[in-house]
Amino acid sequence: MAHQDLAGKIQTVLGPIDPSQLGRTLMHEHLLCDIRPPGTRADNDLGPEITLENVWQLNYGAGFRRAGRKYMLDLEDIATREVRMMKHDGGDAIVELTCGGLSPDPRGLQRIAAGTGVHLIMGCGYYVNDYQDPRNHGRTVDDFAAEMIGQIRDGAWGTDVRAGMIGEIGCQAPWTATERRVMQAALIAQRETGAAINVHPGRDPEQPQQVADFIAAAGHSTGRVVISHIDRTIFDEPRLLRLADSGVTIEFDLFGQESSYYGLSDIDMPNDATRLRLIRALIERGHLDRVVISHDICYRTRLASFGGHGYGHIFRNVVPMMGRRGYGEDEIDAILVRNPRRLLTFV
Ligand SMILES: [Zn+2]
Repeated sequence: MAHQDLAGKIQTVLGPIDPSQLGRTLMHEHLLCDIRPPGTRADNDLGPEITLENVWQLNYGAGFRRAGRKYMLDLEDIATREVRMMKHDGGDAIVELTCGGLSPDPRGLQRIAAGTGVHLIMGCGYYVNDYQDPRNHGRTVDDFAAEMIGQIRDGAWGTDVRAGMIGEIGCQAPWTATERRVMQAALIAQRETGAAINVHPGRDPEQPQQVADFIAAAGHSTGRVVISHIDRTIFDEPRLLRLADSGVTIEFDLFGQESSYYGLSDIDMPNDATRLRLIRALIERGHLDRVVISHDICYRTRLASFGGHGYGHIFRNVVPMMGRRGYGEDEIDAILVRNPRRLLTFV
């Protein structure tokens, strides 16, 4: 099918823009999303309404089954308001990585972008194995690749809204056969379109490296691959530095998440100060151009409307803390503007 050449452009949900138009960017968020595991979506009991009285407890300890409502980002008016608040705090663009399995809503993203003036770049492809339609387990690499290429060139999920990045491509630990085929397909779609890839690794400290090695072994460059959720996956510097040495971009995307409770695995969640210390280690190793940050907001209680930090937290709180902790303007600019621009620009 005919399509405009995307090389040198960034593709937002409202169309291509020149990279110079992109300012401070959050590289991994969700605005409209349903992250309830598929097995729980038929539950009639969505748990309590979120109130000032229960929001702390909901964040500290409740599991998916008892709090379904918390995991549904389906309130477009609130999402629009929250994005506007981020803009007020100094943010300019959001990469929205709600992909297959998480109920993507391309039209909703278009309306939010149009209503706020914030650049939204949409992901495509498929999230982790357990969120997949059973029919996906029978699909081939080429079939997945053709779908992703179409999502970038023609439009995604039954619309003409085009994706500007591939991902977040889901991996569980251990990595499943379907997920490997989706990853191979993402690499083909990358080669074909010039888009960057975002990877959601499994909750195993070794898995990000496993994915990076898989990509290199398949003969693809790791230079346009971002590994998400490093905050909850890798906790030691040697492993972190080895991963960055392999060429992938490291994404700390749980900024604002400061509770020791995580819920999905038994880890010691770092706080924002610890994240900045690990990023400093990457910079000292020469990897400033391989760091991006975000909040990965995917449930209600992280929104300001429900007592959370909201999409503006990095601009409102983290950037000043970076200044206090010795980050220079040039380093902050690389992490929030230059690296996102380079990764989101089609090659
Ligand atoms: Zn995500």
